[in-house]
Amino acid sequence: MPTYLDNHATTRLDPRVLDAMLPWLTERYGNAGSATHGMGREARDAVDASRARMAAAVGADPREIVFTSGATEAINLALQGAASRHGMREGRPGRILTLATEHPAVLDTLDHLARRGFSVERLPVVPQSRPGLAGRIDPATIDAAWDDDTFLVSVLLANNEIGVVQDMRAIAAIVRARGGLLHLDCSQALGRMPVDVDSLGADLASFSAHKFHGPKGVGSLWVRRRGRPVRIDPLVFGGGQERGLRSGTHNVAGIVGMATAAELAVAELAADMARMRGLRDRLMAGLAAGIDGLVLNGPPLDGILADGTPLRLVNNLNVRIPGVDGQTLLATLDAEGLAVSSGSACSSEQPRPSHVLLALGLDDDHARSSLRFGLSRFTTGEEIETAVRLVVAGIARLRSFAG
Ligand code: PLP
Repeated sequence: MPTYLDNHATTRLDPRVLDAMLPWLTERYGNAGSATHGMGREARDAVDASRARMAAAVGADPREIVFTSGATEAINLALQGAASRHGMREGRPGRILTLATEHPAVLDTLDHLARRGFSVERLPVVPQSRPGLAGRIDPATIDAAWDDDTFLVSVLLANNEIGVVQDMRAIAAIVRARGGLLHLDCSQALGRMPVDVDSLGADLASFSAHKFHGPKGVGSLWVRRRGRPVRIDPLVFGGGQERGLRSGTHNVAGIVGMATAAELAVAELAADMARMRGLRDRLMAGLAAGIDGLVLNGPPLDGILADGTPLRLVNNLNVRIPGVDGQTLLATLDAEGLAVSSGSACSSEQPRPSHVLLALGLDDDHARSSLRFGLSRFTTGEEIETAVRLVVAGIARLRSFAG
């Protein structure tokens, strides 16, 4: 078995999730839209129960959960759906703010909206030269960028490359005071930090099951109904499922899997966080001891926010190894059976330097000499020791060729 430390890209399906899904892939194959017979009704009841469980896991009301094919679709529905509604209401496109360090699912969707006439601004984050808060957006930047046309802000709650957690309460207070909508990409957060969409002050929030030991190909969008209900337009039309916001036959097994995984993520959060943090710190200590000049990218590993949440995801590590090309190192490590990454999985086929690291102010060479590690509930101490050994040996070899 390879040593897998690429859990920001995806995680292993928890065997308990697979057990919960299996009946819905075998004998219980009814369509949740077929209310005329028992098999359809049991599928519908399973979807309804899963909606309630998913909602409970993130502090939502069940009527606020829309199941999708993943976070990419949830994000598209949130951003394009809100933009479409705004454009129809105002009779013209408006302005959207986001961070330079967002995932491509957000950035590319907003590029698409920009081609449709919306004005989009990617705001800068605190650079690596101020390591204490590297990767965070200063909430005042959002306030300063606001104008009369601004109606929507999209923020990645916890970054998939450097793990930085944003100051959501301060950001939400500004967006609320300005009368805008706030979308949160929570893809990397569930199972790695507490997530309560209501108290985070958001209006829309996207989730992806395969990031917290659920199946691939299922996600959800939270659309606020309580207090100040949010209206968005659908992207996909048809049978009217999901209150008309996402037509298409329900992926019953996937939805049951997502709900089960979300419930486990919350039930085991404290224990998972403590384990991942301990192992991540061991990984950092081992690498730092064996590699000359190793530099941490992103905020400090031990930073704590005012509400007690870590400033950085406890399962994340991103380091720069001066003088070593990340792609060459990755290839060496791959051959030895270690799965890690140099940036986001979606862009690793085109070996461009990570836009997140560039946004921190790293130059191309520095960004290219960086490695990202992501741990999970299933990461073992043995895997950490293997990873340290392989990375340290791989770098020593590459440096000896270079020298
Ligand atoms: N947002 C972030 C921060 C991610 O890390 C990912 C996955 O790579 C996505 C969105 C897209 O999620 P999905 O794979 O469910 O479409």
